[in-house]
This record gives sequence, C-alpha cells and structure tokens, in this order.
Amino acid sequence: MTSERTELAANLARVRERIDRAASRSARHPEDITLIAVSKTKSAAQIRALYDAGVRHFGENRIQEREAKLGHLSDLDATWHMIGHLQSNKSAKAVRLFDTVDSLDSVALAERLDRGKKDFNTEVTEGTEKNREERKGSAANPTAPLRVLIEVKLDPGESKSGIRAEDLAPLAHAVLPLPHLNLRGLMGVPPYFDDAEQARPYFRRLRQLRDAIRAETGNHLLPVLSMGMSHDFEVAIEEGATEIRIGTALFGEREKA
Ligand SMILES: *Cc1c(COP(=O)(O)O)cnc(C)c1O
Repeated sequence: MTSERTELAANLARVRERIDRAASRSARHPEDITLIAVSKTKSAAQIRALYDAGVRHFGENRIQEREAKLGHLSDLDATWHMIGHLQSNKSAKAVRLFDTVDSLDSVALAERLDRGKKDFNTEVTEGTEKNREERKGSAANPTAPLRVLIEVKLDPGESKSGIRAEDLAPLAHAVLPLPHLNLRGLMGVPPYFDDAEQARPYFRRLRQLRDAIRAETGNHLLPVLSMGMSHDFEVAIEEGATEIRIGTALFGEREKA
C-alpha cells in the first residue's frame, strides 16, 4: 500500500509539472487550472492517497460507483464532479452525491436537477433530511445552487453524451433562470487522436462557443472550460482550459470494462 501511495504521489508531481510547463508556454498561471482526478474504477484508498497528496477535485461518471465509495470518503473536504451522462431519474441522488454536474445535456435534466436541489435544500433547512449519511461530506454550503456545466458534443462521430452546438443557446437560456442551478461554463471531449495536436481545433471551438454564448446571454460570465484528458491536456491548457479531467496519468491504466 505504501508503495502505491508513493507511486500516486509521484504521478501527481509529474502531472503538476506538465501543467506548469503548458501554463508557462501559454502565459497562464497554473493556479488558474483546476486539476480534476477522474477516479472512475479506482478504489477509495487510491482516491484518499491523491487527496493526501493535495488533490481536492475528483470526477466520477456513475452514480452507483460514487455511492459505493462515499462511505469510505465522506470525511474528505473535496469537490465531487459528475462527468458522465446522467439520467434525469437519478437527479435527486445526483444533487446529494455531487457538488457539480459537468455533463448537463438537456432541458429535462436541468429541470429535474433544479427540482431535486430545491427539495434537498428544504430537507436541509428544515432538518428533515433523510439518509443524511448518503450526502457528500464536502464543507461547501449544502444549500448553495448546484454548479453545472453544459457538455457540448465536439465529436460528431461519437453518440455519447453532450448536446449539439446548435442546441447550446436554447439550453443555456433554459438553465439560466433556474434558481437552484448555477451555470458556470462548458465541458467537451474531442475525438481521440494519437497526436494530441490534432485535438487543438476542437478545444478552440469549445472556447469560441463559450465566447459566443457569453455574448448571446448578455455577458453572463461562464468562466469555466472543462477540457483536456491524460493524452491531450497540455494542448487544452494552451487553448484556455480552466479545468482538466485526468484519470490515467494519475491513477494508471483502467481495466477495460
Ligand atoms: C474517463 C474520463 C476522463 C479521464 O480520461 P483519461 O484519459 O484516463 O485521463 C475524462 N473525462 C471524461 C468525461 C471521462 O469519462
């Protein structure tokens, strides 16, 4: 176990070093780039090792998996990101388990999350919260609006989550008035390229979409661009990423599902 903890800390140091270099190449500050450790398929012990080494943001892509690990991690003061496709019937759970939903991709989901957050807040303020132990342990104000990012589909060939670029403005306009959601920006996943340089136009496009939607919604700031994974995060940083989602480079390879 000790050697695994050492290895994870060394992986983290290498990733931080790469972030620093990419930031200085693009005249940016490394503190302006949030590292999200994507811990899907990884154990609570591995997550804790990275937490102890200084990581404060973690990403999971399945409700059940987050639930399964929660009991082992509820003492961590971390920010938990939902980064996978979320079914709207899981909204009530999602608002208890996550601080931010980075993969918002429909009006229906936004409305369910808003309602789920409202109900949750009522339980917290009235002290009638059921299943208190199911709630994430973060110290953030539990009744603050739920942070969300809209996921834009950057890869037309992939039919996974995310909305089409042409649906972005209508979705943003539907989300902004919802009182229990706080729209902060966009997330995107470009196609996989062996040469990460080829992902650059996709990252650039996400940034341009953000700039366009900012103008279109009356300069609502939308400061967050969540883009870049283990194999392409340096290019994403050069193109303006404010959050990068790193699994393999921190934890090592995942078992294939
Ligand atoms: C798995 C996953 C990641 C991390 O991928 P790595 O290549 O292991 O860094 C990032 N973002 C999303 C949405 C993921 O599902």
